Amino acid sequence: MQTQTADRLRPFGTTIFAEMTKLALDHEAVNLSQGFPDFDGPGFVREAAKAAVDAGRNQYARPAGEVPLVEAIAADVRARLGVGYKPLTEITVTSGCTEAIPATMLGLINPGDEVVLFEPYYDSYRASIAMAGGVPRFVAMREQDGRFTFDRDELRSAFSERTRAVLVNTPHNPTGSVLTRDELTAIADLAKAKDALVISDEVYEHLTFGAEHVSIASLPGMRERTVVLSSFGKTFSLTGWKIGWAMAPAELTAGIRSAHQFLTFAVSTPMQHAAAVAIREGGAYVAELQARYLASRDALAAELARIGFRPIVPEGTYFILAEHGAVSGRLGVEGDIELAKKLTTEIGVAAIPPSVFCDRAELMSGYLRFAFCKTPETLDEAIRRLERLA
Ligand SMILES: *Cc1c(COP(=O)(O)O)cnc(C)c1O
Repeated sequence: MQTQTADRLRPFGTTIFAEMTKLALDHEAVNLSQGFPDFDGPGFVREAAKAAVDAGRNQYARPAGEVPLVEAIAADVRARLGVGYKPLTEITVTSGCTEAIPATMLGLINPGDEVVLFEPYYDSYRASIAMAGGVPRFVAMREQDGRFTFDRDELRSAFSERTRAVLVNTPHNPTGSVLTRDELTAIADLAKAKDALVISDEVYEHLTFGAEHVSIASLPGMRERTVVLSSFGKTFSLTGWKIGWAMAPAELTAGIRSAHQFLTFAVSTPMQHAAAVAIREGGAYVAELQARYLASRDALAAELARIGFRPIVPEGTYFILAEHGAVSGRLGVEGDIELAKKLTTEIGVAAIPPSVFCDRAELMSGYLRFAFCKTPETLDEAIRRLERLA
């Protein structure tokens, strides 16, 4: 098909998630590709949504976010991460973190500005930088001593006179690394030295397994140059509600809001009121979810290892990267894309080939990404099918 997509977006095609989900459906595969739970979110939050609808909270929301929600976010972030944001002027509610990413780029990046990006990266980062006319500069995350990290010299050389921002994601999708205070300090020092902004995607902030989540905004001198992005969907297993937010000092928030007002204007009103209830009262649920994901992580990692993969056990997120050399060798396929297709169509398990999240595909072509935000039954069925590879 000859598409008529504009030049700025043509390189990105359809997302890998749509492609793998379709392949998974066509072949009735167990879908460990896209990162959404196959179980429902907490009952008290769903009840709060129904109550908000019945209470008539059904017209346009306050564009920057309903007051109870921005107040709940501000209180939670102050208590947990030690950073203070004024709810009315420094927090903007967006249609999932997915909207917060382009709103931040369009609102703060000028054409020709460079944005430093760690690869593998969340796929919408690159497209959002392109929409703003920005230029990506890449830094690799590579496996070292059982986890993924970056080389500090490579990071330093990714900065130039044109650097406007560095985009950080911790806990990191897809590698599962929770960046340490020391790693974040290295990034922060460069950002300060080069007078760059930091855009920090922290949607998995609650999904850590012992490692401490540190927001780079909490490091000395960083609040004033950082935009923190987060989301309600991953934390409360309600990804379809699409509630996210951007937090930044008022001067930066002004840019984000000037884009947000023309992208979506406002986010679903009743769902924001329910999200406020979740954030205020959700502590016990989040603790339960962490325990559940820890058990799923360990079970899936052990089984993948038994089958012949080499899983790199993640410190956070709900994804495992597994090195697949032994398995793909046995099957006579090469690279993650060919293996992901073969597993979906012939074994009946869908996973994501992470090289699609890279400028340099070779960084990730030796791995596959499995999502473990699934019921034990789904994970057991996936393992039962993958055992044919053993
Ligand atoms: C899921 C995800 C998002 C998008 O969050 P939504 O709130 O669902 O839009 C953003 N960044 C990363 C790294 C993600 O994994």
